[in-house]
Formats: sequence, structure tokens, C-alpha cells
Amino acid sequence: MRVTVIGSGIVGASAAYHLSSRGADVVVVDADLEGQATAAGAGIVCPWVDHPEDDAWYALARSGARHYPELVEALGEDLGYERVGALLVAEDPAELEPVRTLLGRRRAEAPEMGEVTVVPDPARLFPPLAEGLSAVHVPGAARVDGRAVRDALLRAAVRHGAELRAGVATLTAGGEVLVSARDASLPSGSHPVPGVSGRAHDGDGDGSWRQAAPLPGDHSRARADAWEPAERGASGEDPAGQNAAGQAAAETLAGEDAAGEKVAADMVVVAAGAWSGAVCRPLGVEVPVFPRRGQIVHAALDGVDTSGWPIVLPHVGPYLLGFPGSRVVVGATVEDVGFVPRVTMGGLEEVLRAGLRLAPGLAGATVTETRVGLRPVRAGGPPLLCRAGERVVVATGLSAYGLTAGPFAGLLAARLALGEPSPLDLAPYRLPS
Ligand SMILES: Cc1cc2nc3c(=O)[nH]c(=O)nc-3n(C[C@H](O)[C@H](O)[C@H](O)COP(=O)(O)OP(=O)(O)OC[C@H]3O[C@@H](n4cnc5c(N)ncnc54)[C@H](O)[C@@H]3O)c2cc1C
Repeated sequence: MRVTVIGSGIVGASAAYHLSSRGADVVVVDADLEGQATAAGAGIVCPWVDHPEDDAWYALARSGARHYPELVEALGEDLGYERVGALLVAEDPAELEPVRTLLGRRRAEAPEMGEVTVVPDPARLFPPLAEGLSAVHVPGAARVDGRAVRDALLRAAVRHGAELRAGVATLTAGGEVLVSARDASLPSGSHPVPGVSGRAHDGDGDGSWRQAAPLPGDHSRARADAWEPAERGASGEDPAGQNAAGQAAAETLAGEDAAGEKVAADMVVVAAGAWSGAVCRPLGVEVPVFPRRGQIVHAALDGVDTSGWPIVLPHVGPYLLGFPGSRVVVGATVEDVGFVPRVTMGGLEEVLRAGLRLAPGLAGATVTETRVGLRPVRAGGPPLLCRAGERVVVATGLSAYGLTAGPFAGLLAARLALGEPSPLDLAPYRLPS
């Protein structure tokens, strides 16, 4: 079977890997758009603390976390994956009670979270932390390098015969794929895949512990309870004007007068992240996914081994995690400003201010990099893993959990495309009728 995958973020890369390893003839098309979420993601894998009221969301995220050890072994590469544990922190210990109850309720069916314990002195595990914080430790939580996972999946797909093509994919009403050169006006993200030669492109206010969780049913404005305002008016940004420009760029992907080279395919997997709605529009199908911007800061604590540090997850506010190479990541903003993948002064100021309040010991760290990505958020429901017409599978909407669930979602998308049974009941992940 010939399958075209649109998008080579973590979901598309995984779909391509699983399709090609099952013998399909795979072509992956990516427009290398600036704002790819996978390239910006922090890398937290700790599904048990969120989506208390959404079984479908939780089932997918939990399965995604469970899938990782098997994936790491299958790919045989360093994916930056490590079970470093997570510290849920709060100034008031009473704030931790609901999440402890939630974890207690989920533990029997998710023993991989490990034994949850109270930690009297969290700064012993994450030295830059502020004094006086209360904490609960979840030992099964892991961190992962999203870029490394994406690239390893793509390399493995290529080894299985997949072809990677640079360009903008547009669908016709009948589900055929046309690939055209990227319009120079579309900002590029430049995501080269090391080791793949010839690659053309250089490239839940629902009681969740984390307040950066998706906002059910409303993407028109910022979450009132997000740790920072979504609109950037205060920092001088003009969301309306820039969103219009970004939206226009996104709309060109929907290509009303689509032209380009046809890629022969029996099935198409749309894994185009926040752009999936535009990609599917020619089918006459409304895919309710919108972009939620995240800005994130990477810093180095020279001479300090941060590789084993746990993830720090406050209820509201910035999270922190360590990686090898003395790297510490502080993130992220949660902004509904449309297709505007830019790092802003206001965004950085808020990440750094809140991050330093949580971990004053990071004040002397060297800022090494800033990243920005557009989380693909499905309005008012769990991610989408479903058919959209006879020849098209849609796999998107993983919001702030795509590095956790993306590889597993790609596996499910591959199985859907091939008509194989799914290990997870996919009924909740259908398009709304
Ligand atoms: C700041 C930040 C922090 C995050 N932290 C975490 C975390 O700690 N843990 C976690 O689990 N998740 C996290 N996430 C979420 C996670 O990164 C995303 O959910 C996930 O990466 C989405 O992957 P995707 O493949 O669906 O989309 P993307 O990675 O956005 O990929 C979509 C791809 O489609 C391509 N494309 C779009 N349209 C077209 C077209 N017409 N033709 C060709 N190609 C096209 C784009 O170029 C892009 O490469 C974070 C996200 C951000 C932004």
C-alpha cells in the first residue's frame, strides 16, 4: 500500500516509521513551517497528573507514556529519554492533596508511575529550587528530547524505504495529494534530520494538576486561570494584525487553487499539527484544531550535572527540567495568538520571572536558546485519530501532550491507515459529526 504522510513532527514521523516497518510504501511531505511544536516541546512525560475528568485524553496520554520504553529499545538510539521522576511542588501543602488523591486513584491501573511519596526537602533533588516548597515525588515520570525522537523515527522510516520530500502538501477534494515548492513567504523552521542523506528540506481547567492543559471548548481567548495571560497586548504585540498575517500563511496551505506534483497514494495520513485544519479543508471536512503558542527557554548551569534532576511541576506556573550537558529548560507560555510563532520580549520576561521565582538558584545560568512552537489544540475534546473520508486519516490535536503521546498516536494512525485493529478504542477520537 502507498501512503503519504503530511507532516514530519513527532506524530507524522511515528506514523511514517510504523507504516514503513509494516511494509507500506511511504512518502513523508513536510513544508518545514516555522512553529513546529515538536521542535519546541519541553519533553515532560508524566500523564497521570492531568485530565482527571477526561478518560479518553488520559487513556491516550497514559498509553503514550507506556509506549516509550519499547520505542527506545526498538529505535536503539539516544532519545534523551530518562525516568528522572517528577516533583509536584506547591507553597501550600494543602494544594497537593487533590493531585495525591488522583494519583492514588490511578495507581492500581498505572503502576508505572511508581510509589508516590512526600518529599520534605525538594531542593535536595533540584538544587536551584526556592526554599520552603512542599513536594510530592512521582518516580515514574520521564523526560525526552522531542527532536531526537522525531529524527530517530524519520531515520528508521528511511531505512525501511520511506521517502522524505520537502514541500507544501495540499489535498484535493477527493483526497489526492499535490506537493508544491514552499512559498518563500512562509516562515521556515529549518529542521534538518541528521543522518538522513538526500533529505530535501533543511530542514484542563478540568482539575488537571498542570494548568497549561487544554482549554475545553474555547479557543477564542486566553485561559483565565493560565499562569500568564494569553494575549500579548501588554508586551506591545499586536495579536490581531499578526494573526491575520500568520493565518493568511496558514490558509495558503489549504490551497484553493491547488497545484503541484501529484503523489500517488492509496491512503493519506494528515499529521500536520496546528495546520491540520487548513490541510483538510479541501476535503470539506472541518478539523477543529487551533494553534496555542508556547515560548520556552533553555539555559546552561556550567559545570553542574543536571542530567538526573527531576522534572519540577507546579500547579500553576512554569515547569523546570534538566537534560545532560548542564542544560535546564524553563517553560512555557500558553498563548492563543494564532499562527504567530515568534519569541517575544513579553513571553520571555514572563517565563524568566516566574521561573526564577520558583528556582532562584537559576539566576546565574547562561541563557543558551529560546524556542517557540504552536501546540495543535483540539477545541473541546481529546485528540483526533480518525478517518476523514475514504482515503484520509487525521492524527492531531495532541496539545501540550504530544511528546508524551505522539509516538503512540503515530502508531495508531498507521494502523488506521492500514486497516489493522487498534490497541485502543478509537471511538472517542473521531471528528465531531
Ligand atoms: C513550548 C512547548 C512545550 C511543550 N512541552 C511538552 C511536554 O513537555 N510534553 C509533551 O508531551 N508535549 C509537549 N508539547 C506538545 C508537543 O510538542 C506537541 O503536542 C507535538 O509536538 C505535536 O506534534 P505534531 O506532529 O502533531 O505537530 P508538529 O510538531 O507541529 O508538526 C507538524 C508538521 O506539519 C508540517 N506541515 C503543516 N502543514 C503542512 C503542509 N500543508 N504540507 C507539508 N507539511 C505541513 C509542519 O511543517 C510541521 O513540521 C509542548 C509544546 C510546546 C510548543
